[in-house]
This record gives sequence, structure tokens and C-alpha cells, in this order.
Amino acid sequence: HRECNHTRISSPNLNQGHPCFSTSGHGKTGRIHLAVAPECNISCNYCVRKFDCANESRPGVTSKVINPEEGIETVSKAKASPIGSKLTVVGIAGPGEPLANEETFQTLRKVKRRFPDMIFCLSTNGLLLPEKLAELAEIGVSHLTVTINTLDEQVGAKIYSYIHWEGKTMIGPDGAKILIKNQLEGLEQASKAGMTVKVNTVVIPGINEHLLYSLALEVKKRGAQIHNLLPLIPQAKFADRMAPRKETIRNYRSILGLILPQMKHCQQCRADAIGVL
Ligand code: SF4
Ligand code: SF4
Repeated sequence: HRECNHTRISSPNLNQGHPCFSTSGHGKTGRIHLAVAPECNISCNYCVRKFDCANESRPGVTSKVINPEEGIETVSKAKASPIGSKLTVVGIAGPGEPLANEETFQTLRKVKRRFPDMIFCLSTNGLLLPEKLAELAEIGVSHLTVTINTLDEQVGAKIYSYIHWEGKTMIGPDGAKILIKNQLEGLEQASKAGMTVKVNTVVIPGINEHLLYSLALEVKKRGAQIHNLLPLIPQAKFADRMAPRKETIRNYRSILGLILPQMKHCQQCRADAIGVL
């Protein structure tokens, strides 16, 4: 049933095998990240593009970008390793935006053919989600992470330098507005298609903190099942900003936990991470 186009993917039971979609890691299963997606279609002010995408995110380096064939080899090798049986998830999380790279789809299709029982996971900034959702559902992607940092286009203008949309580069609130609209629509469609959806939000002191509560309410309404607050790693254009304190993140999690389950064990992993969480 995970193959077909418009039917619901039964997701709740899939969660058991996915280390990232429970509120705490359980050390029993792990994931293989394939760094096949170098390009990005937006510019987040906290992103250093040669590093991993904040979608999944310690922007930690990926050692190199690989092609779909190498992706298959990576999965085969990892599955043949001593922890192979624990590696149940194949994820594409960068180093750029997965949906902006054709290689993402090629890789998923190839891996799916060879390892049909694995769980397929993808993280995205959401800009192309409404457009690509049917294809993801058809391939059998069951777990999706959408990074949504704000629902306010004025705030978005401070977080994103530009977005590339339909052949144009858009800056300021106009660009942010399109991004936010697509993120929410994509989230809703993914949830209606039966995918398990997590929302990541980078907490940026002085920029998006004051709107986190309303953001959580809205993404819950749209079908998000789990929320992951990531502390800003000050770098790139946000290099001079302060990272939020651990205590601050803890407080936000306890408040927002009243709305959605909070992921607390995120290791902000690299685009080429392999292992058990
Ligand atoms: Fe987990 Fe994110 Fe990797 Fe998916 S993309 S396996 S949610 S770390
Ligand atoms: Fe960087 Fe990811 Fe933002 Fe693209 S979506 S700019 S790769 S953090």
C-alpha cells in the first residue's frame, strides 16, 4: 500500500522503527543518511552551504556529496555491517534541499527497488512540497520533516535572504510569504496522505521566539505530529547572534509540549550520518 499514489500510507506502526519520530531515542534502530542533494532553493541566514542543511541539522559537514549509485552502495555496505539489521531508515537530508535535487528522487527509487522494506524519510524546507508531494507518496516516503521557523512574513524576511521560486529570486516578505504558504500547504497535504510529519523550528533569539506558540498551534492544526526545537548555531549571517541557552530551550519545550510532543534527543546530525540513535 505504500506504493500507490493517492491512498493513505499507514503511518503509526511505522514509527516504531524510526528513531527520529519518537520523543526519545531508543538505541534500537538507526538511519542511513545519503548526502545526494547539494543544491538549495532558498537562503537561510544561519546556513553555511558547504555544511549540512539545518533541516536536519547541526550544520555539520558532509564528507562529500554522492550520486544515486553511490547512495545504493552506501546502503548496501551499511546493511552488511554488524549494525546493519538495526539500520531501518534511509533518509535524505541534504546537504542542501532534497526536493530541489533530481538525484533525491532517483536515489529513493533505486533504494526502494533494492531494499523495499526500509523506511523512507526526507527533510525539506517545504518550498516545493506541494509540487512534489504526490511523487514522494508514490515512491513510499512515509516520514517527513519540514523546517518551519516562522509563520510571519516580516519575521521570515529576517531569516531568509532570498527564495528561488518559479525562475525568480524573491527577497523580503514577498519571498517569505510564498515559502510559508507552501510549507503549510505541503504539511497539510503530507499529513492527509498519511505521512508522519515532524516540524523542525530553529529558535533564533530576538527573531522568532515570540511567535513560537502560535506557530506550534498552527502546525498542529495542519497535521504535524511532533515538534523539534533546534537551538540556533550562530554562523553565516547570524554569526553574531547569541545561541539560545539550554534552559531557554527546555522552557520552550515544556510550554510547547502542551501542544505537540517534543523531540528532545535530536543530535542535529550530518547529511551523511549513519548509525543508531
Ligand atoms: Fe532522522 Fe532526520 Fe535523518 Fe530522517 S532525515 S532519519 S528524521 S535524522
Ligand atoms: Fe541551508 Fe537548508 Fe536553509 Fe537551504 S534550507 S539555506 S540548505 S539551511
